Amino acid sequence: MNVVVIGAGTMGNGIVHIFAQAGHSVTMVDISENALQKGVSTIDGNLSRQVKKELISEDSKNQTLSNITVSTDLLTAVKNADLLVEAASENKSIKIQLFQEAQKSAPESCIFASNTSSISITELAAATNRPDKFIGMHFFNPVPIMKLCEIVRGFATSDDTYSTIYTLSKELGKVPVTVQDYPGFISNRILMPMINEAIYCLMEGVASAEDIDTVMKLGMAHPMGPLTLADFIGLDICLSIMEVLFSGYADSKYRPCPLLKKMVAAGHLGRKSGKGFFTYSV
Ligand code: NAD
Repeated sequence: MNVVVIGAGTMGNGIVHIFAQAGHSVTMVDISENALQKGVSTIDGNLSRQVKKELISEDSKNQTLSNITVSTDLLTAVKNADLLVEAASENKSIKIQLFQEAQKSAPESCIFASNTSSISITELAAATNRPDKFIGMHFFNPVPIMKLCEIVRGFATSDDTYSTIYTLSKELGKVPVTVQDYPGFISNRILMPMINEAIYCLMEGVASAEDIDTVMKLGMAHPMGPLTLADFIGLDICLSIMEVLFSGYADSKYRPCPLLKKMVAAGHLGRKSGKGFFTYSV
């Protein structure tokens, strides 16, 4: 299959990695040359780690790398594409612009997929000339390691598109889960209110940040406490997903915690800014 992945960032390079490793020919597209170079070197480093752990051979690493090309020219890259996977920044107008640009030269048969965590697949699909060939492929970070792929069916996604992508995600070694297009899909609809509730507990002085995390780690066997996880995801991202849930369902149970809003306004965004619920060296 000829696959084009838009975005060479955290998710994009991981998606390129798994497609190339499964033998597909992949073009990684970004607006930034620097992002493309960083993306390739991250893939190279991750493959080397797999070789070191004896999960793959040196030959298989080289074969995977030889399946990857990079480009800043979307129109040329999609000319012979069977599948386009978009993993650009989480911004609706950027994504719509990218799909509308791609459809000018992509074959009619090319399936469009988005890795968005929170934007409506139905809405993105409706802005293209192929809503029946549009679907969500929601991977998780780090993509080569995390098994889950939420397959999000938009309102007009055809059965053919759905079954092609469902089968493909299994071939990539993922465990696909079928989800209808509602705000937050399943993953963020369950995860984010839990994180939000942990922040309410902290704001109300129920317990310290450390103790809230300890309860969920030792009592519920979560590998990471919700506040540590929020810092890892980025508090700005958590807030924007809560806002999608709050506006999408118009239900007060999704009201973003005022402490979360205050911390984002103060620039305390978690791990990436060095300060969130905990402190990090950046
Ligand atoms: P990122 O910021 O690491 O990477 C985004 C990349 O998109 C950047 O390299 C940027 O240069 C590129 N880009 C921006 N505009 C572009 C354009 N017009 N044309 C080409 N490239 C462009 O972001 P990320 O964390 O990899 O997230 C990408 C997508 O995946 C988002 O929709 C996000 O919601 C989703 N997602 C993220 C995670 C996560 O844990 N980070 C998990 C699941 C889904």
